[in-house]
Order: sequence, then structure tokens, then C-alpha cells
Amino acid sequence: MTKPIVRFAPSPTGNLHVGNVRTALINWLFATGQGGTFILRIDDTDTERSTAEYEQGIKDDLTWLGLVWGDTFKQSERFDQYDMAADKLREMGLLYACYETADELDRQRKLQRARGKPPIYNRAGLNLTEDEKAAYEAEGRKPHWRFKLSGERVVWNDLVRGEQAIETSSLSDPVLIRADGSYLYTLPSCVDDIEANITHVVRGEDHVTNSGAQIEIFKALGGTAPEMAHTPLLVGADGASLSKRLGSLGMGELRKQGIEPLAICSLLGKLGTSDNVEIRDSLAQLSEEFDFAKIGRSPARFDEADLQNLNAALTHAMPFETAKDRLAAVDPRAANEAFWTLVRENCVTVEDAARFVPVAFGDITPLIEDEDKDFITAAATLLPEGDVTAETWGEWTSVLKAETGRKGKGLFMPLRKALTGMERGPSVGDMLVLMGRDRALARLSGV
Ligand code: GLU
Repeated sequence: MTKPIVRFAPSPTGNLHVGNVRTALINWLFATGQGGTFILRIDDTDTERSTAEYEQGIKDDLTWLGLVWGDTFKQSERFDQYDMAADKLREMGLLYACYETADELDRQRKLQRARGKPPIYNRAGLNLTEDEKAAYEAEGRKPHWRFKLSGERVVWNDLVRGEQAIETSSLSDPVLIRADGSYLYTLPSCVDDIEANITHVVRGEDHVTNSGAQIEIFKALGGTAPEMAHTPLLVGADGASLSKRLGSLGMGELRKQGIEPLAICSLLGKLGTSDNVEIRDSLAQLSEEFDFAKIGRSPARFDEADLQNLNAALTHAMPFETAKDRLAAVDPRAANEAFWTLVRENCVTVEDAARFVPVAFGDITPLIEDEDKDFITAAATLLPEGDVTAETWGEWTSVLKAETGRKGKGLFMPLRKALTGMERGPSVGDMLVLMGRDRALARLSGV
């Protein structure tokens, strides 16, 4: 297979959310796995809604995720190319002026529905004489421009959906240029895909119908349509469409929550595929395992709980060197290797380590139940002399067991609660080493 060239083509009219990150990721994994090229195309033909801030945000998010691009360009810098393509289509009689207002079109569709007909554009624009057009223009109307579909069946072998057929006779001729002269994404996308030699268009299945029209545009412009892959959409854990909150869940928010890029990529790269959703070591591993054939036809269920679980798996195994700077940002005392190695198993995110900083190095409120008071007093007396070492806990609890007759939970839980102020957490014996003798004794006396 020749090396693929793919593009991710977001519109800078908002932040990246989990849905479009998944599209970016699938493109990236496919290209990288085959030694191909991943291009970032900024679809900013809508100059009113596109902003430089969103464009920068998209680039920052992709960089944070590790989805580096080989080349990038903006559609707003290529209007002359789109104008040339539009002229070419006009000359071929495939792009025609229409003068209906939105209201008129709406009325037409209602009428068609009332008559039991599909609401397809009636192609009135195609039959206008020059005089009729001039009359509309004299009224102050500006034309919008539609692409004339062939009316034939367009077929392609979709890498995810298998053989696809779109009857273009069942579609309205798509508007390519609005009355204000602005381009919808349909034509610019084809022009750019031809020029960048895009081999595969990989995007969500909400674009399947567009693909029918775009394949005809590719052919009209003298290109061959790239291969196509349309992935099922993301839905919520309950199978219903993604809630507004989840649907717009941005990378900035996830980053703030302490979610690791690799947790996001492991989840979005495996969701809806035949592989297990488990943490992977690297994007390279995800690339190696990527195959369109593994992507199923049903919607992929996005569950935030999966993201938390994957993140926890990464955190539990994270080396100190990797976590160090972020720990220091949480609290300078947390940037301590023994501390991190001890607490990481109890953390979903690196920042969770903050909970244990007071336990190891600061002040907590000891939890001592009335029925344990005498036991805790005995424990304070029996704490071995000298510095706390790795052996202290074993020695201490053996003596306590022998002296008080307590064992198991009855022995350990009161010590845990008094020393850490928590019912659950990392090994108390190891925590004891970090907190040291004075802090331990103070807690055992209820301070
Ligand atoms: N800007 C388009 C979108 O975000 C691109 C679609 C495509 O990948 O062709 O929907």
C-alpha cells in the first residue's frame, strides 16, 4: 500500500471535544501506523465564527495529546483556489445560481411533505433564463450556488461501513456557496484534498451523505475520490446520544482534572473496536494495533468512568520522574520519591497525591473511637524507641498483638485511623516511616 496521507479538518469555531479528538486520533493512528502523513487543516471558511484563539486552542490540545502533524494550512488563505474550482464547475454547467430565500425554500419543503413527496430541491434555479436572473438581481437578491448532482448511484467501499451506495437522485443539489459569497465546507474540502493528495478521508458517519456529493465533486474537478472511512458516532454510557456536557467535554477541562493524554487516547482509540479498552504504553502501540477492520458498526459508548479507570491504571504505575514536576506544583513536599511510590496506588490522578501530603508531612485530625482509646494509649507507650524504620511497623504491631490480644482489623484499623485520619489509604507501616516518630506520637495522643 502507498503511504497514506490523511487530514484532520476541524473548524476553529469552538474547542476540541472528545468526539472530534477521536476523529483526529483515528486519522493519526492510521497514518502513523503505515508510515504516512497526518495533516492539520484548519477549516475556517466561516470567517465570522472562526477565531485565532480557537485555532491556537486546537493546536495546543493536539500537541498536548501527542498528535503531532506533518503539515498544516488554513482554508481562509486559499479562497482563490476555491474560486477557480467554482468557475470550473460553472463552466461545466455543474454549479448553478439559485435565488430562493430561506423562507421560500422552507415553504416548498412543507408543500412537498404535505403531498407525500420527499423534500428535495426542485432545481428551479437550473431553468432560469438570463432575464429571470436579472429580474431577481434587480430585486436585490443575491444568488446562492448549488452543485448539480448526477442523479446516479454513487458507490464506494467504506473502510469501516463496507459497501456504501448513495442515490444522488434522492438528495437536494447541495449548496456550495452561500448568498453572501461564503463557502460551505463541501467544495473547499474537495479542492484541498485533491491538492494535498489525500489518500483517505476519515471522519464521523454524520458525513456519509456529504460523501455521495463530494465523490461527484472530486470527479468533476478531475480528481479521484480518496478512500473513505466513516466511523460511528460516540454515544453516552446509556446508549443515548452524548449529553451536552460530555459532548462538549474539552481537553482543557480534562487536563485540569488531571487526566493523562494517554488515558484519553487509549480510550478513544479502542472505544467501539474489537480490542479491549485497556491502558496502552504509548501512542506508538496504539498505532501498531490500529486497524479499520476492528471498528464496529454500532455507536461507541463513551463512559467517563472508563476514563477514570484508565487514568488510575496509568497513575498507579507512573515513575516518580514523570510525576515529579506536577507533584511539586501540588505541594513541594509531595515531590518525594518514597512518598509518591507509596501513595500512587491510591491516586486516580497525580494531583490526588495532595490528599496524603498532610498525612505524611503535615497535620491531620486523628480518628480515635471511644472504644479504642485505651488501645491507642497502649500503642503510644509501646511504639519502639528510636527512628522509625521499615521494620518498626512489624515489631510494633507484634508487641501490640501480644500485649492487647487484638488482631486483624481490630488491631490495624484503629491504628490506621489514629495515624492517618482515614479509613483507607496506603500502607500505614510505610506511611509511619514518612511521618516519623514525633508526628506519630502526637496523633496517638489525639493531637
Ligand atoms: N470541517 C469539517 C468538519 O469538521 C471537516 C469534515 C471532513 O473531515 O471532511 O465537519
